[in-house]
Amino acid sequence: MKVIDALRINSGRLNGAIDAVAAINRQADGSCCRVALTDADCEGRRLVLRWLEDAGLDVSIDPIGNIFATRGGSDDAAPVMTGSHLDTVATGGRFDGALGVIGGLEVLRTLNDADIVTRRPITLAIFTNEEGVRFQPDMMGSLVFSGQFDLQQALDARAAGGGPSLAEELQRTGFNGTAPIGEPRPAAYVELHIEQGPILHRTGGVLGAVQSLQGISWQEITINGISNHAGTTPMSMRHDAAYCASRIAVFLRELTQRRDGQLATVGRINLSPNMINVIAREAKLTVDLRNTSNDELRAAEAELQQFLQDLERSERVTIASRRLARTDPVQFDQAIVATIEDTARRLGYPISRMTSGAGHDAQMVARIAPAAMIFVPSVEGISHNPREHTDPAHLEIGANMLLHTLVQLANA
Ligand SMILES: [Zn+2]
Repeated sequence: MKVIDALRINSGRLNGAIDAVAAINRQADGSCCRVALTDADCEGRRLVLRWLEDAGLDVSIDPIGNIFATRGGSDDAAPVMTGSHLDTVATGGRFDGALGVIGGLEVLRTLNDADIVTRRPITLAIFTNEEGVRFQPDMMGSLVFSGQFDLQQALDARAAGGGPSLAEELQRTGFNGTAPIGEPRPAAYVELHIEQGPILHRTGGVLGAVQSLQGISWQEITINGISNHAGTTPMSMRHDAAYCASRIAVFLRELTQRRDGQLATVGRINLSPNMINVIAREAKLTVDLRNTSNDELRAAEAELQQFLQDLERSERVTIASRRLARTDPVQFDQAIVATIEDTARRLGYPISRMTSGAGHDAQMVARIAPAAMIFVPSVEGISHNPREHTDPAHLEIGANMLLHTLVQLANA
């Protein structure tokens, strides 16, 4: 046991592998551009696949292109799984997704070097199309893996802008595997990821034990008023769609001050006719509501609906809202969160419990296995951007945390 406690990952090898993947299709501004199942994404997948095979792992690929690499254990039992994604947005950073995959690979290489046999096998998963830039929905590979999205529906998805189907791209690139969907089914799942938010960086934190993930409610609101002259129309006689849109934005800010843990964003407002001296006839705006509590999220949605009805009456406009997306919050497994905290204590790192503001493959796997996540800091919280950065010391700590958490779970 003492030997295992002293085990540490090879940080030079970890950084070298991250650099090699990041160099693929690197853009002039430093962005990583490996959009799902493009040639660049597949070049990254093939490079990592070669490393997995060189490490002597048992590799399988399922029909949605998810890759699984298993290191055997002493018992013929369900594996402990780690994983993430290799695809990026078009202007991606070096670490989003890649850290979880390459960190997992580094853990398995470290166990190989030390000749350590765990009781349960350990499997590294690379999920297809987490970002959802080219094919929707996002988190597609982990959705299909966890039985929450139909395989055929996923294969029929068309690339944005009328390109090929997902099935055609999988066939073209050779990632149309034959392993049964949902296998191997994990006994537990832990994902290492950069925070992609500012909390750890701003508070001087090193590690987050992620215990929950926010639910997301998206809607588009359309306000129809009456367009008229900005000079000749008395204020009392206006039906001003721009004014109503602004009232909604202010209402939502105040709502977040009244309701626990509530986030609200009006990210887009389109006005027409959108002219300086004309009262707007129509406003279309988007609302993004997030909360870790489904009751709170539902209450916020209901408050907004009531406000829209009142506004419709007082401003004599018509307001319609259309739901664009809705995902429930996820509570990760308390025992795995506790194991992560315990690992941090043993390794001597401070850790705090936190919530994820972004979606991750772990939330999908959480439906079929106890799951949780480990966060390391993102400088200034910047992500999906070439300036995305995590200190190499934090990458090393994250990978060592993953190593000891997986070993703990695999030997339990
Ligand atoms: Zn990610």
